[in-house]
Amino acid sequence: MTGPDPSIPENRDGAVLTVDLDAVRANYRILLERLKGVPSAAVVKADGYGLGADKVASALAADGCDTFFVAHLEEGVRLRPLVPNCAIHILNGLLSDAADAYQEHRLTPVLGSLGEIDAWKAFCGDAPLPCDIHVDTGMLRLGLPPDELDRIAANPSHIAGLDITYVISHLASADETDSPQNPAQLAAYQKARRVLPQGKACFANSSGIFLGADYHFDLARPGVALYGVNPQPGTANPMQGTVTLKGRILQIRGADAPQTIGYGASYEVSNPSRIATVPVGYADGYLRSLSNRACGYIGDHRVPLVGRVSMDLITFDVTGVPDHLCRPGDWIELIGPNRPVDAVAEDAGTIGYEILTSLGRRYHRAYIGEDA
Ligand SMILES: *Cc1c(COP(=O)(O)O)cnc(C)c1O
Repeated sequence: MTGPDPSIPENRDGAVLTVDLDAVRANYRILLERLKGVPSAAVVKADGYGLGADKVASALAADGCDTFFVAHLEEGVRLRPLVPNCAIHILNGLLSDAADAYQEHRLTPVLGSLGEIDAWKAFCGDAPLPCDIHVDTGMLRLGLPPDELDRIAANPSHIAGLDITYVISHLASADETDSPQNPAQLAAYQKARRVLPQGKACFANSSGIFLGADYHFDLARPGVALYGVNPQPGTANPMQGTVTLKGRILQIRGADAPQTIGYGASYEVSNPSRIATVPVGYADGYLRSLSNRACGYIGDHRVPLVGRVSMDLITFDVTGVPDHLCRPGDWIELIGPNRPVDAVAEDAGTIGYEILTSLGRRYHRAYIGEDA
């Protein structure tokens, strides 16, 4: 951990984000084992939860994943050439006037209202193109609301002539194993499938996979667990960490009472201390709410973050670390084996999803397992 990292060709970077694609692949296999024969797609929206959708999708496609979900049409357009033989589904559905782009790039819209269904039918005419239907089972965000489902039940011609690949729905509380919302949504989904038996059934996100076989249906749709976030908070994480973030020590200085550190003088030094400054800040997605809460690691030595997170810099109290491990140019682990994404999220008062999707663009990025 100390000293320049030999895996980095040019040691001039202030912060290095290492993305382990082998770990992403391992996580995909762990989920498949849980699914006991049910296949799984991969959700790679938001640039693969911040890891790089191009790298993640290419790696998983090489391992046999043939179905990807993204949120935006544009995300699908960018992904298309990287996984030419895979299905790409667009969760946000069909925006007006965009239907031809779905056709041109062979993207499947997840239709979420009768309006979208009618627009897609009108666009396709006599030559149906694949689509999915999203049914709202209690999230109240996207998908056919119950009254539109009732209208289809009363008049199935609404969906006549559609080429439906998947009927999907999304769980709102799957990370809370005991939430009564889970079985309630499952029952609503099963009821919706009686109205919409066409195509295959796709229901579970990462956490949903861990709710049991009733939730698996024909295809799972995990995102965050692939990237190492614990799908069942409060229990041991079965997933492997996929990102390591290390920041380099720029300077080390002595400090003592009554000095204070950083903007707003939010940290008061109480004893003779040594303070290390690292070039990572909230502009890199290292959230300001980590101020005076987070910690880093130098080898096995835990070093608390002291003072506010500023735009480009953070400061750590390295008083307890032996001098020879802690000099300008040495590295502090901010996210990694000692400090998993979920722990950083807890320090920041948020969820691992937000830590990952905020990962900055200024970091030097190194990918492990890219050519595997
Ligand atoms: C983001 C998303 C997923 C993936 O959820 P995770 O909790 O990251 O596994 C699945 N389905 C839909 C509709 C989503 O929006």
